[in-house]
Amino acid sequence: MAATDGCSHLDQIDADADARSAGCEDCEREGTRWVHLRRCTTCGHVGCCDSSPRRHATAHHQATGHPLIQSFEPGEDWLWCYVDELAFEIEALADSPSHP
Ligand SMILES: [Zn+2]
Ligand SMILES: [Zn+2]
Ligand SMILES: [Zn+2]
Repeated sequence: MAATDGCSHLDQIDADADARSAGCEDCEREGTRWVHLRRCTTCGHVGCCDSSPRRHATAHHQATGHPLIQSFEPGEDWLWCYVDELAFEIEALADSPSHP
């Protein structure tokens, strides 16, 4: 089951926060490359992971305070809370009705 114990930010997940871009929007603007993509569950910002040179997902959290990201990689549904430093999955999100 979803191990959400300890994260108090689940109310900041917006089910309508669709990804705003197909790639890291900051890398695309700056002309840099990313390794993996993460989507902000609050606003839909797509940023790159901490293995990427620019770490835009973390930069987005620091700039906005948005606490939760979800993996934007195919087949990955896990979430990460920056505030609680907690990774977990939510089955209801993995099975989103917005998928065709
Ligand atoms: Zn949290
Ligand atoms: Zn980036
Ligand atoms: Zn955000």
